[in-house]
Amino acid sequence: MTETRSTCPYCGVGCGVVIEAEGARITGVRGDPEHPANFGRLCSKGQTLHLTAAPLVQQQTRLLHPMRRATRGAAPERTDWDSALGLAAQRFGDSIAAHGPDAVGFYVSGQLLTEDYYVFNKLAKGLIGTNNIDTNSRLCMSSAVAGYKLTLGADAPPACYDDVNHADCLFIVGSNAAWAHPVLFRRIEDARRARPGMKLIVADPRRTDTADLADLYLPLQPGTDVMLFHGLLHIMLREGWTDAGYIERHTTGFDALEALVREHTPDRVAQVCGLKPEDLVTAARWFAHGASGDPGKRAATLSLYCQGLNQSSSGTAKNASLINLHLATGQIGKPGAGPFSLTGQPNAMGGREVGGLANLLSAHRDLANPQHRAEVAALWGLPSVPGKPGLTAVELFEAAADGAVKALWIACTNPAQSMPDQRTVRRALQRAEFVVVQEAFATPATCDFADLLLPATTWGEKEGTVTNSERRISRVRAAVPAPGEARHDWRIAVDFANRLRPGNALFPYTTPEAVWLEHRASTRGRDLDISGLSYALLEQQGPQQWPLPEGEATGRARLYEDGRFPTPDGRARFAALPYRPPAEPRESRFPFALTTGRLRDQWHGMSRTGTLGRLFGHVAEPAVQLHPQDMARLALADGELVHVTSKRGSIVLPAQASEQIAPAQAFIAMHWGGEVLSGRSSSGEPLAGVNALTTSAFCPGSKQPELKHAAVQVLKAELP
Ligand code: SF4
Repeated sequence: MTETRSTCPYCGVGCGVVIEAEGARITGVRGDPEHPANFGRLCSKGQTLHLTAAPLVQQQTRLLHPMRRATRGAAPERTDWDSALGLAAQRFGDSIAAHGPDAVGFYVSGQLLTEDYYVFNKLAKGLIGTNNIDTNSRLCMSSAVAGYKLTLGADAPPACYDDVNHADCLFIVGSNAAWAHPVLFRRIEDARRARPGMKLIVADPRRTDTADLADLYLPLQPGTDVMLFHGLLHIMLREGWTDAGYIERHTTGFDALEALVREHTPDRVAQVCGLKPEDLVTAARWFAHGASGDPGKRAATLSLYCQGLNQSSSGTAKNASLINLHLATGQIGKPGAGPFSLTGQPNAMGGREVGGLANLLSAHRDLANPQHRAEVAALWGLPSVPGKPGLTAVELFEAAADGAVKALWIACTNPAQSMPDQRTVRRALQRAEFVVVQEAFATPATCDFADLLLPATTWGEKEGTVTNSERRISRVRAAVPAPGEARHDWRIAVDFANRLRPGNALFPYTTPEAVWLEHRASTRGRDLDISGLSYALLEQQGPQQWPLPEGEATGRARLYEDGRFPTPDGRARFAALPYRPPAEPRESRFPFALTTGRLRDQWHGMSRTGTLGRLFGHVAEPAVQLHPQDMARLALADGELVHVTSKRGSIVLPAQASEQIAPAQAFIAMHWGGEVLSGRSSSGEPLAGVNALTTSAFCPGSKQPELKHAAVQVLKAELP
């Protein structure tokens, strides 16, 4: 038996695992006791990882050979790598030759390792000359990126997991960490036991398992977070609870924000948010001064937040307005304090580092900045890189649906299930002239549209690095060889690049470490400088947080401790952004606010977790959760089928009464696809899963779509 240290591929906590293998078979997994993200703990998903690699499961779920379809709708036929790559190069090359480089697009994934991401980014922006490369991380954390950059000057979460142990007050907003980041939540529970005076405030429209543990639960109306944050600041100003010295020394722009929040009185905010004014005052006091409420004692408050803030048409404003509270009270750059966005996917952070989004370049550089473009061009040995903004996730599929993007390359993600407004995504995949899907799993929703299927390696089979929510870079290691003819994601991108432009000198790599070294070079002098890090150091000292510049022995746990920020004047910037309601308000025909989210034991579109019966013990089937009052009003019994309908489509599923959901709201888990939860568009096309209903309206700042809010109707389904 061999034992190999690696990282869990499920979520942004980034737990270390020890993989047990016998020959080419993974036989077990356990938490790595030395990994600083989890110290040996694993959640229900992590504990069963090895079972998803069992031979029988692999046979049923994996893509093992390159496959091509002679025509759309035909069964895919096995081909060889040489033919597959030749076909891909010819079809992409034809589209580029006929219509220019922006006629092709890449849609990649927060599941990719940093090395994979780097190569795909260079392939699109460097070799082909298009910025049309975006990622499913756009659906997950691009509002956090925009919020950090707008206020703090760089996309860098300033806090770390250990801050949970030092906080006097935890403010969890738009995050059901108890289910979505379980191992981090265990740490929160431990910290509360160790420090009984610590206060936990949870703001969430749903009374989740996280909210159940709160000292103060704020059941705000969906989408009203900005109003809440402005209201808290109003109270802090009125009561003299802000830190005028910190504001004066380390920030700019406070006057405009102060003027904006003047009208956000507790009564008005309470009315819009559906909260009690006295609860707002308590929340503001605890945020500023902790449980003692003593104005002479400044507390350390740590905010943890996730998709409830990010997946919104006001995502940037929500993130920035929460960060405002930290700047106004000096709750940043010290133990136990700071605005700390949690990443959903295992390597959403690594993708940000290499510029794997349509508006970014390597090492947190901006596409819109000519100097940054020149730096990346010099790094890659090119005369220039294109400056035209790339198409972000929603825009990319809309452009393909309109016929402007002719060839699509989809890697390690399942957009025909996970993207909002499935009508458009399906139209895009039908209309695109050539669709490549590079995947480990045979995800039917998207693979059914592929002209070419390329088998990729996955967890337990590949080497590289990932970065978790606290900026910690961990090694991912192979415990077993690649199955069938699967290749590593970075290798597939390199092989394609060399077929598309034979003789190019951009991809000289023979190992993932060679790719990583180029990424490392790109970070020198940047906020995420890792010039002092190496694979060898990760081997010797274990996972490290960035930055880790040359000359420093370890990574930095928290940022901005000296009160200096990576802005031109070194000061953080308050953002005075007004509250705006969700893009699609409830109306008489669609009177419910639908929100979507995760279950405790399932992962994304279930390509892994859906293969294990034991993970259905928690929740066995999809349902729409409604408040008991709404169930009674609609004369519904638990388990009765209902049509849930939005302006875009309709699905049928059982109704379930739940006190977790407020009246006039509805919740459906995001995991089930068309095999179980099929539906129809408003014009009758078949659609899959809850995203038949969701809207592709997005935040203008971050381009992140509003997966957390759609107006829907719920009607009892009449049996034939
Ligand atoms: Fe994996 Fe996240 Fe669970 Fe840790 S908390 S074991 S990273 S799914």
